[in-house]
Amino acid sequence: MSETHLPEHSLNPGLYIVATPIGNLGDITLRAIDVLRRCDAVACEDTRVTGKLLKHLGISKPLWRYDDHSEHRDRNRLVDATRTRAVALVSDAGTPLVSDPGYRLVNDCRSEGIAVTAIPGACAAVMGLSLSGLPNDRFLFAGFLPAKDKARREVLEELATIDTTLIFYETAPRLLKSLESIRECLPDREVAVGRELTKLHEETRRGLPDGLMAYYEANPPRGEIVLLVGPPLPSVSSEADRDVLLMEALETMKASQAAAQVAKATGLDRKSLYARAMELRRE
Ligand code: SAM
Repeated sequence: MSETHLPEHSLNPGLYIVATPIGNLGDITLRAIDVLRRCDAVACEDTRVTGKLLKHLGISKPLWRYDDHSEHRDRNRLVDATRTRAVALVSDAGTPLVSDPGYRLVNDCRSEGIAVTAIPGACAAVMGLSLSGLPNDRFLFAGFLPAKDKARREVLEELATIDTTLIFYETAPRLLKSLESIRECLPDREVAVGRELTKLHEETRRGLPDGLMAYYEANPPRGEIVLLVGPPLPSVSSEADRDVLLMEALETMKASQAAAQVAKATGLDRKSLYARAMELRRE
């Protein structure tokens, strides 16, 4: 295997948005290490967290604390620094700006004509989606659900008609409450819970909210969680709609598989669908 030679010259001035691991330190990319090694300073959420990561990588850099609530003056100073120096922006874990600070900084740098680039890497939302097996042709990332019951229900009701998989960030203590609200506001939707992704106790569980609630009541969750909700079931308002779905499925699969697929997609009874699929085959 050939060796990788990383260039050692200094970086051009600008803002470098650098993704870091979401648990497993092995997930840092070669480019991320290279930029962290060659930048002039690192802007971060928590200097202790980033200090540990840099120590693990054998890198020592000035660490500047930044979040989107930082004083306007502090942000201006940071923007000014990026005119003459290479500043890396990292968050505690994962991709900066995805439910993490950076939006205002990137916006300000862009409007000042400062070079902004990103070094992509781990993101819990994307990993959760990949693992969930839920439809992923379209998805909507909706950040954290509100902690208060009423506000959480309002958000879920607002999202109820959107025909995509929904992705939320969640915390272990709030998981059961959120599942309960999903059962109430988005009935019959498949849900996936991705927990401790990339870590020792990684797991992804999928099911209806009732089943997942029963499981997590018996096994109180710990650690970090991504919660995903599948799209609404297609509405089958007539026998003709049902037949269209069955006939589409029968083009590529056996009657039993077609019935199982349509049952899953619509919530209709699998046995009746199988009987109808056999009729359609004969017709
Ligand atoms: N920017 C990060 C990213 O790219 O994933 C997310 C930061 S957000 C403040 C933290 C939330 O991300 C956690 O509460 C959890 O919902 C999710 N998360 C982060 N790491 C995770 C992991 N290893 N497994 C599951 N969810 C995780």
